[in-house]
This record gives sequence, structure tokens and C-alpha cells, in this order.
Amino acid sequence: MTLLADYTTLGLGGPAKAFTDAPAEAALIDAVQAADAAGEPVLILGGGSNLVIADEGFPGSVVYVNTRGVGYAAAADGQDGVDVTVAAGEDWDDVVAAVVAEGLAGVECLSGIPGRAGATPIQNVGAYGHEVAEVITSVRVFDRRTSQIQVIPNGSCHFAYRTSFFKRHPARYAVLAVTFRLTRDTRSMPVKYAELAAELDVRMGERAGVGEVRSAVLKIRARKGMVLNPGDPDTRSAGSFFTNPVLDAEQFARVAAAATVPVPRFDAGDGKVKVPAAWLIEHAGFGKGYGAPGRARVSSKHTLALINAGGATTADLLTLAREIRDGVRATFGITLDPEPTLIGATL
Ligand SMILES: Cc1cc2nc3c(=O)[nH]c(=O)nc-3n(C[C@H](O)[C@H](O)[C@H](O)COP(=O)(O)OP(=O)(O)OC[C@H]3O[C@@H](n4cnc5c(N)ncnc54)[C@H](O)[C@@H]3O)c2cc1C
Repeated sequence: MTLLADYTTLGLGGPAKAFTDAPAEAALIDAVQAADAAGEPVLILGGGSNLVIADEGFPGSVVYVNTRGVGYAAAADGQDGVDVTVAAGEDWDDVVAAVVAEGLAGVECLSGIPGRAGATPIQNVGAYGHEVAEVITSVRVFDRRTSQIQVIPNGSCHFAYRTSFFKRHPARYAVLAVTFRLTRDTRSMPVKYAELAAELDVRMGERAGVGEVRSAVLKIRARKGMVLNPGDPDTRSAGSFFTNPVLDAEQFARVAAAATVPVPRFDAGDGKVKVPAAWLIEHAGFGKGYGAPGRARVSSKHTLALINAGGATTADLLTLAREIRDGVRATFGITLDPEPTLIGATL
């Protein structure tokens, strides 16, 4: 019996009823198809870095995506750039390191994000002012409804902040490969995040070397416990546990009225603003390290990461998450949404 705790970055999750390691695309498709035909629930598992799995485990078939392969080609439509097509099972940060070393710009700000390439379109991973939606040209999928392989162009992925068509319809597609359009340029994408600009000593909107940006991002992430480190319990998380709420003017006014200091906000378009969930959590009384010592607690490096300090169960983690969500709601009238995918569990 495979214990899923061994496959999640939280180190949490009970047993899988069935578990298939899929090192090749055909094995991945076969395993998904066989489980679908048998009417078994399916969990497609990458690096387990965005999953909270119940202590009871998963009562179906877990398909572990282990495919490999990275291909470089001149941009398919004759435009400038290089199309990099990556198998779903490739480690994402290995891919970023390789393309940065090749002198290709586009994903350097997404350095250090755990997990596999095939999961990047699922929640449109993003960090430091950039997200994969900016550079994905297409996603190659196995469509579980039609049993066909399909290539879905960016415009049909419905990417938005930490979500996509794939996240909204989890039972429809298995991602097989992702194609990214990168630029042959040793200068980075424009720096859009103040903390990164300060680390690089550049002005907002300026560019720096792609390698320099990668190093700076890894440095900032390490300070926040956002790079996996087996020796550091503060990194035993699923990354940010809550998404940053996007508020209309009335909701923001309510938050501002409840606060005793100015509330940070970022323009989110359409007259809306994004407020850092970490700020709301901290100002609702849940500081760094809050929680049960040795069990589930807030990271001591980053308020937005809930961690397994060693002896936690998924139930402990969810109890803490609910306490924080309810505390933020009671203080500011805003309900935070979880970012990771919850399996066999709800908040
Ligand atoms: C320390 C830490 C820092 C993080 N920092 C960030 C960050 O800065 N920005 C950010 O956006 N995220 C961040 N994350 C979250 C996470 O790393 C990303 O969401 C990542 O893309 C998840 O990849 P994974 O392979 O681990 O996916 P998993 O956790 O295995 O799966 C996540 C979801 O995607 C589905 N899935 C996975 N692979 C496939 C596939 N091939 N086909 C179909 N469905 C699939 C799963 O079924 C599940 O629903 C962080 C996590 C940690 C632990």
C-alpha cells in the first residue's frame, strides 16, 4: 500500500487504494483510461507540492506523472523566440535552470517553485510579478471525455490568477506536455516586484541578467522558506495556503475601516484591488509561528505558509486553516480561499 504522505511536500496524506508510476506517456494514458473505464476516482499526482490529502488517503487510482523530455525548436509560427516543449513529469525548477543556462528569458522569475512542469498550467503558477500564462503557447493533453490527445492553445486555457480551465475541470484532462515561448535574451523580463527590484538594485520595470534574476529570486524565496529544504520544517508546506483576495471598492473599504494601519493593495484591474492574504492573516492575530508546536503551525518565515512541523496530521492542518480563515473573516469580513487542491477534505 502506497502512503501518499511520502509523495507530498507537506508529508501528509493517507494510503492510495491503487498507485501507478507512469514513466512514459503511454503508461500515463493507459492508467488514467483504465481507472476511468472501471469507474474509479483518479488523482493525477505530480510533485505533490500543491496538494492537501486527507488522512484517510485516496479511495481510487493515483497516477504518478514521471515522464521526461525537453525539446527546443525555433518558434513554430515564424515569430522570434524559441518554443520549449517539456514533458509533464519534468521537475519545473530543473527546466527553469536549464533554460536560464541556455540564455532564454521568460521564466526566470518562476525559479524555485516546486513541482513538475505538467502542473504549471493547472493553477497558472506565478511569482514575483509573472505567471506561466505569459509564456505558455499550448498544452498537450489527454482528453478523458473523448479519449483523444489534443493540443490546447493558450487562449482556450482560460488562465487567470492561480487558476485555469484545468483547475476548474479537474476530471477532464491529463496534461502530457507544455510548450513555452521563450526569448533568446540574456536580459530578463521586466522586473515588476518591488522586493525583487530592491534585491537586484534595479528600478521597477527595468531588466537584469536572467541568471542574476534567478539567483535573486532563489535568495528571496529561501528567506521565506519557499524553496524546499528537507532540513527546514518551515518548508514542509504546500506553498501559500490562501490566495490573495481580489476586492471591489466596497469590500476594500470594509477592510480599511477595520484596520488600524494603512492596508497594502495592488491594482487588479476593473476597479478592483488585490490585498495580500499574508497581511490580513497577520493583522487578524495569526503571526509567524502561530499554532501547535511540533504539529501544524504557521511558518516562522512566512505567514501565508501553513506547515507540518513534524507530527501533524491533515486534520490538524485543516483545523488551523479553518481557525485562520474564520479569524480573518471575523476581523475583516473577507473569506480567504485555499490555494492548494484539497483531496478528500474541505475547509
Ligand atoms: C515551498 C513551496 C513554494 C511554492 N511556491 C509557489 C509559487 O511561488 N507560485 C505558485 O504558483 N505555486 C507555488 N507553490 C505551489 C506548487 O509548487 C505549484 O502549484 C506546482 O505547480 C504544483 O506542482 P506539482 O507537480 O507538485 O503538482 P501536484 O501538487 O502534484 O498537483 C497539483 C494539482 O495539479 C494536478 N496535476 C498535477 N499534474 C497534472 C497533470 N500532468 N495533468 C493533470 N493534472 C495534474 C493534480 O491532480 C492536483 O490537482 C509552492 C509550493 C511549495 C511547497
